[in-house]
Amino acid sequence: MTNPQAEPYDLFVIGGGINGAAIACAAAGRGLAVALADARDFGFGTSSRSSKLIHGGLRYLETYDFRLVRHALQEREILMARTPHLVWPIRLVLPHVPALRPRWMIRLGLFLYDHLASRKTLPGSEMIRLHGHAFGAPLKEDYEFAFAYSDCRGDDARLVIANLLGAQAFGATILPRQKVTAAQRADGKWRITLEDAASGETREVTARALVNAAGPWVDHVAGTLAGVITHRRMRLVRGSHIVVPRLWAGEQGYFLQTTDNRTMEMFPYEDDFTSIGTTDTPWERPPEEVDVSPDEIDYMLAQVNNYLKTPVRRADIRWAYAGVRPLFEVGGGRDSDLTTLTRDYAFEIDNQGPPALTVFGGKLTTHRRMAEDAMARLAAVFSMPAPKPEASNPLPGGAFGADGLVGFEASLARRHAWLPAPLRRRWVRNYGTRAKALIGAAGNIADLGQHFGYDLYQREVDFLMQTEWAANAEDVLWRRTKLGLRLTNEEAAKLAAYMAEQIELG
Ligand SMILES: Cc1cc2nc3c(=O)[nH]c(=O)nc-3n(C[C@H](O)[C@H](O)[C@H](O)COP(=O)(O)OP(=O)(O)OC[C@H]3O[C@@H](n4cnc5c(N)ncnc54)[C@H](O)[C@@H]3O)c2cc1C
Repeated sequence: MTNPQAEPYDLFVIGGGINGAAIACAAAGRGLAVALADARDFGFGTSSRSSKLIHGGLRYLETYDFRLVRHALQEREILMARTPHLVWPIRLVLPHVPALRPRWMIRLGLFLYDHLASRKTLPGSEMIRLHGHAFGAPLKEDYEFAFAYSDCRGDDARLVIANLLGAQAFGATILPRQKVTAAQRADGKWRITLEDAASGETREVTARALVNAAGPWVDHVAGTLAGVITHRRMRLVRGSHIVVPRLWAGEQGYFLQTTDNRTMEMFPYEDDFTSIGTTDTPWERPPEEVDVSPDEIDYMLAQVNNYLKTPVRRADIRWAYAGVRPLFEVGGGRDSDLTTLTRDYAFEIDNQGPPALTVFGGKLTTHRRMAEDAMARLAAVFSMPAPKPEASNPLPGGAFGADGLVGFEASLARRHAWLPAPLRRRWVRNYGTRAKALIGAAGNIADLGQHFGYDLYQREVDFLMQTEWAANAEDVLWRRTKLGLRLTNEEAAKLAAYMAEQIELG
């Protein structure tokens, strides 16, 4: 799987969330010798627990974060071209609540949102009358008007894998389940100690520069493990989501104003579900302990039920997940005041010896841009070649050619008529053009091997173990796919046993 390069590496990246993966991809795309390690599975941290919006962030206009919104809007278009299977447009409906924000204010916000960055494919915003409109169907009759506008949705955990595959294609060494336990400067290099999660064995690697992209763990990695001095004040903010059976037929999502002056979203999710989120509460405990609290569930249900004709109940919840936003403060602010926290990213470089770049904050949406900016920052202290021409190509799986994703899927349908349409669609959405390699020489369903439940077969599990670093059932069911929503506990146990056996066999 890995492609070991001669040490010292030029760059060693700590953290295989979206930020680390994107930096590894950008650096390897410049011909640097790159290694990236994550203590756990890739995307285990915040990068599989987001709202999965690739968006400018309409609500950040209220905090005058225009730079962030403009950059993020620009990235929507770029990511749709770079990973078309993992980023797709969505129409969002914002029901108007006169008591919360006046119509002129929303119109102004949407005008800016439409025009802060050029849109090539996404339609602009409009006001709609909900009564009699399909978008009004799930909503209470009290809501008469709404604003519809465009954004994108994406698959966060799969975007991490796409970036890692991109990095690997440019020669990067990708190290899952390898915890960095120490990083020290010695003899003009970084000496990094890695601990293997399975065996507990440790080893050392060397690198000319270090990148700390440990997300919510960034302070711990900088201060405790690497002895790097940083100045920004990190704040961890928990955000939770619930997933319930599909609440409406259309593909639109809803952007809802809450009674406490926040916003929440509801989206169609994995065809048969609706995802609802999110919350914002300070998180003081270790990031890996984050969980959804009963209060958050009550809050989310109450807020969406203010809008829904048919209320959602606690018993409807099929899955709940929580993540920790690694945010940092801009300007002073009270500890309880979350409005002083930006969603933008920032870097600090410590170059008292071989350089260390620490990444603060950031969004899923801006990962590519953040990585390019990180390269520019490193170039000041470190010789940095220009990107190879292929570095601007779509990431692995994303090069659909002139016929696009739809044409590619149609060609698979012609060549593999035996493959059930929902499975074909899921594979194209997840793996893009790599679905071809996944199908391989299979000529009928029996060739897909053992059936684990729903539409998960051995062939896909083997593909994920061999090409995407999956090592256990949770990696497959909750990060490489979302089939955790579909498989029973017994089916998941069967999958876990199969994967453990494969690992044992080597
Ligand atoms: C509730 C919520 C909703 C969000 N919604 C959106 C959204 O809709 N759109 C959007 O653009 N953004 C959104 N975000 C923000 C986005 O998800 C994050 O900015 C992004 O995922 C952060 O990625 P990261 O790589 O910095 O951190 P992470 O994904 O947490 O990655 C850090 C990695 O470092 C690893 N690590 C830690 N310590 C070590 C060590 N010692 N050795 C090796 N590895 C280590 C961890 O295992 C982890 O995998 C949301 C965030 C949250 C919490």
